[in-house]
Amino acid sequence: ETPSLPKPNWLRVRAPGSPGYDHTRAIVREHKLHTVCEEAACPNIGDCWQKRHATMMIMGGICTRACAFCNVATGLPSALDAGEPQRVAEAVAHLALEHVVVTSVDRDDLADGGAQHFAETIRAIRVASPGTTIEVLTPDFLRKRGALEIVIAAQPDVFNHNLETVPGLYLRIRPGARYFHSLRLLQQAKEIDAKTFTKSGIMVGLGETREEVLQVMDDLRSAGVDFLTIGQYLQPTRKHAAVARYVPPEEFEGLAQAARAKGFLLVAASPLTRSSYHAGDDFRRLQAA
Ligand code: SF4
Ligand code: SF4
Repeated sequence: ETPSLPKPNWLRVRAPGSPGYDHTRAIVREHKLHTVCEEAACPNIGDCWQKRHATMMIMGGICTRACAFCNVATGLPSALDAGEPQRVAEAVAHLALEHVVVTSVDRDDLADGGAQHFAETIRAIRVASPGTTIEVLTPDFLRKRGALEIVIAAQPDVFNHNLETVPGLYLRIRPGARYFHSLRLLQQAKEIDAKTFTKSGIMVGLGETREEVLQVMDDLRSAGVDFLTIGQYLQPTRKHAAVARYVPPEEFEGLAQAARAKGFLLVAASPLTRSSYHAGDDFRRLQAA
């Protein structure tokens, strides 16, 4: 077994624990919700939850896929919880979120991939919190014809779907997904409703080259994608893909500059950047500008 690389200083975070954190956790528990913050063992949880920023994960805690980077459990998920959209909406209202990110496990077992459940969640949040901007971070809806249309018809402000890594690493890192299918999904979201902002993200440190990352940026811009996030991959457990490299902060800065030059409207690239990290702050700033 190869020993894991020592973690550099720039990835050290403070242990979670603050009144804001406790408050967020209490609301999440009270409404019986899953969050990707916890399921993915996100390093930013102390920071985000202190500010009440929690990313809701709907449709259960068990995923039908098994991506090599992901900490979410794989297996046969249970039936959809019809009360969940309403509970998410109540939690968003209690947390008084200006912007919410709603994501899910992959539900290959459902005929529509969970699209209708996403749409119901968006609509419930709109009713309970009309001023909140809504970002959905969806699965790829592979072989789920019509699913994307259902989600976009509910008019999320931001449609986010992560490419996660460069195409050359899909077989190892994201088996079960197809790079060009995911890219096409993002393009179609824009084609269905041009008012929807589209967003995607990748992790670095999995063994990709800089040239491959620049090519992904070009592919995303060709698909009309507006926002980009790039963060360092961290190995959740020893059973997951190993970290090939810790990318230093100045290299992230270089990638951010390249991305801005390619025309992305919003770019977040740093070691601790995650798809949902500060998503609201950046989006609200863009809207105000
Ligand atoms: Fe949750 Fe996203 Fe913040 Fe991580 S970055 S704690 S997943 S809101
Ligand atoms: Fe994790 Fe999403 Fe892959 Fe499921 S599809 S294993 S939740 S990254």
